[in-house]
Amino acid sequence: MALRDRGVEIKSPEQILAMRRAGLVVGRTLELLRAAVRPGVSTGELDAIAEDAIRSAGATPSFLGYHGFPGSICTSVNDEVVHGIPGERVLLDGDLVSIDCGAIVDGWHGDAAVTVAVGTVSGDLLALMAVTEESLWRGIAAARISGRVTDISHAVETYVRASGGYGILEDYVGHGIGSRMHMPPNVPNVGRPGRGPRLVPGLALAVEPMVTLGTHETVLLEDDWTVVTTDGSRAAHYEHTFALTPDGVWVLTALDGGEARLAELGVPFGGR
Ligand code: MG
Ligand code: MG
Repeated sequence: MALRDRGVEIKSPEQILAMRRAGLVVGRTLELLRAAVRPGVSTGELDAIAEDAIRSAGATPSFLGYHGFPGSICTSVNDEVVHGIPGERVLLDGDLVSIDCGAIVDGWHGDAAVTVAVGTVSGDLLALMAVTEESLWRGIAAARISGRVTDISHAVETYVRASGGYGILEDYVGHGIGSRMHMPPNVPNVGRPGRGPRLVPGLALAVEPMVTLGTHETVLLEDDWTVVTTDGSRAAHYEHTFALTPDGVWVLTALDGGEARLAELGVPFGGR
């Protein structure tokens, strides 16, 4: 995994504002989808809701047509970790569905994901979701001006490992984001701190821990998209896009900019 500074895009304050607009479209769309998830709904119906919400906001779905991807969101159910294709599949009581969403406003991208329980799910799944989401916030909170990218990786891994015997995907990682959805640098979810590009104002990253109840090993299904665990264990996936500003951290895909969670974690809020 390349962790060099090469190709790292530094945004102006105006460009970060444009990314905030894209991030809010993503955040609001995910809230709509979270509310729409229930037993009996199909992943294709969720995709239609998402595309309508994104386009109604004057934005463009990032995922639709990306390397040929046929949906506006990824919907990954149960042992599917990421990149599931929305379609006929009907969600059942007790399922977990991870929804990944991206939007473009004026050429700038936002990218975020949530895992949602369908109906009533077991306690171990609720714990998996809580651990994965918290690890995302711990990772974001570890991003400090003049730190390094793998400070984030280390914080994610440390929190997950301390929480139990979970698997953390290593073959799929977070990423730089801005004028493209996927840009340097990679943001791994495991690793030693203090490595990779320096964290500076104007940097924007998508952090996205993918955590399972079993193995960290995955295989690609024959559709060439869907990533599933090799042992069939269930997975969760949470993601936010954040930017560093001279004042601190601004979580561009969180409706409140991350202000509440960052305050709990003692991190300066860099938004407006
Ligand atoms: Mg994503
Ligand atoms: Mg992403």
